[in-house]
Amino acid sequence: MTSPDQLVQIVDRALADSVARSGPWLACRPGCSQCCHGVFAISALDAHRLREGLHSLSLTDPIHAEAVRSRALASVARLAPTFPGDLTTGALASTPEAIEAFDTFADDEPCPALDPATQTCDLYAARPILCRTFGPPLVTPDDGLAVCELCFDGASPEEIDRCQLDPAIIDAEQRAEALFAAQRAAPTSDEPFRTIIPFALASTHA
Ligand code: SF4
Repeated sequence: MTSPDQLVQIVDRALADSVARSGPWLACRPGCSQCCHGVFAISALDAHRLREGLHSLSLTDPIHAEAVRSRALASVARLAPTFPGDLTTGALASTPEAIEAFDTFADDEPCPALDPATQTCDLYAARPILCRTFGPPLVTPDDGLAVCELCFDGASPEEIDRCQLDPAIIDAEQRAEALFAAQRAAPTSDEPFRTIIPFALASTHA
């Protein structure tokens, strides 16, 4: 089993290793926020980590924390009319229609954790796993390699392959999610709980 804390350590180590191999091929820098626009599915564990991060921020910087929560509530209000899921829990629906609708849902919506003034993440230490791994090449379910369109400009397929993140992080995330669900006695389901960051941060329960 992989604990939630171990997962973050595993992913951050894999990222550091990939960054070292990638060098200047990576365009990531503070203030680059293209990947902070457009919603994507996150796990219950990601949502929990984000809420803990927001709680910690509320203890050290309540004004920034309140700004994050306000942006999350505003985002939920904007997205609710067409959200392909349950507005009460924030759970994304898993019907074929809902999955198709989510493909093009809220593609320009800014992440509520993104500080509009600095274009940096107010919850960086608590960010979801996908935010930690976006940028470098990462293997996809169909055995391709996904990479940020701003990175590896002009790189050969071999160069991209050489810099890929350790794919073991995918199994580690699944193990951590399973442990988290077991610890919370979450109801078992064929479809794991998935939500989006605005709903996770607008929620009042941890
Ligand atoms: S992943 Fe892409 S969009 Fe995000 S910070 Fe890196 S270069 Fe910018």
